[in-house]
Amino acid sequence: MTTRPRPLVILGATGSIGQSTLDLVRRYPERFTVAALSARRRGEELAKLAEEFPQAALHLADTAARDGFIESHPQLKARLHGDLEDLYGIESGALVVNGLVGAAGLAPTVNALERGLDVALANKEALVVGGQLVLDAAQRGGARLWPVDSEHSAIAQCLRGNPQCELSKIWLTASGGPFRDHEPAALASVSLAEVLDHPTWDMGPKVTVDSASMMNKGLEILEAHWLFGVQIADIEVVIHRESIVHSFVEFRDGVFLAQMGAPDMRLPILFALSGGEHLACDAAPWSPLQADSLHFAAPDPALYPCLELARAAGRSGASAPIVLNAANEVAVAALLAGELEFTGIPPVIDRALQAHQTVPVGSVEEALDLDARTRISVRESILGKATS
Ligand code: MG
Repeated sequence: MTTRPRPLVILGATGSIGQSTLDLVRRYPERFTVAALSARRRGEELAKLAEEFPQAALHLADTAARDGFIESHPQLKARLHGDLEDLYGIESGALVVNGLVGAAGLAPTVNALERGLDVALANKEALVVGGQLVLDAAQRGGARLWPVDSEHSAIAQCLRGNPQCELSKIWLTASGGPFRDHEPAALASVSLAEVLDHPTWDMGPKVTVDSASMMNKGLEILEAHWLFGVQIADIEVVIHRESIVHSFVEFRDGVFLAQMGAPDMRLPILFALSGGEHLACDAAPWSPLQADSLHFAAPDPALYPCLELARAAGRSGASAPIVLNAANEVAVAALLAGELEFTGIPPVIDRALQAHQTVPVGSVEEALDLDARTRISVRESILGKATS
């Protein structure tokens, strides 16, 4: 019996996760096909992909980019959809690959799950800002969420076949980013180019900055909390410079399981796309003989203050992680625009959290409303600092 290839709806098709996903589609045409491609504003790259995948429906989120796209590629206009959700109805049984960056990924995740579409989630911010909303949507739609983040894929793989009640702790590994050998005081003089020079993973600029500050790991703590139902206090972070162990789980008897392999995002993506299979894959050959030693160390809180900020927001619960994430997104954008120093990021987030009174969040609209309001006030605080 031949099964038809699984149709994929790829959000963030021109980004890092989208590119890796498309690489896998090219390797496994008998398993996966592209039903739809969505990008934010890279119209030219989307047009190239449209040529390569002539059956794919298209979407561009940015209005100006959409207008430019139609002007430059009138022959593709009929394939271009105005509403992201249109893409969800194109093929039945589609898997949505969410490679979006930031809180913008929340509504598309919730909408897909509610419609019964499984989601391969690389967009950790969706869970950070709306964890309960995402889980509720999956339950209502009877859909599954597949983690794509390498750490969370590793944990899901370690937990397979083991009852949740036996799990004691999760240990997230972290590369430590480019400043792992710095003294905290030396961070004051780092350049943007140094921030963007990640030692092991090749990712987009937002995730790369988050890796340098370790906010990425902070967001991953919250992501793991929602995905695996583990308390914030039972999620440890360990610096592992080789990025070979992608995470550990610790059971109540003290036994650890680790998932290991080459640091290649195509592996967790493939696991998610295939619905939890270890398909034969030559994407990232690796053997234990290549690892003569593996190192593990506790992160220095003075070097990575974002880690504790994320834990604190997670402990406060409800709306605090929305504020944490929005403040971080605005601070990272300011850093990338040359408006904020790298060491300015944690104080910006801290101030936003200090000023916030936690409230319950009952809907995507409420979450996005708080997200938008936080962005405005954090933006004002950065500009105020810059001009004063
Ligand atoms: Mg990760």
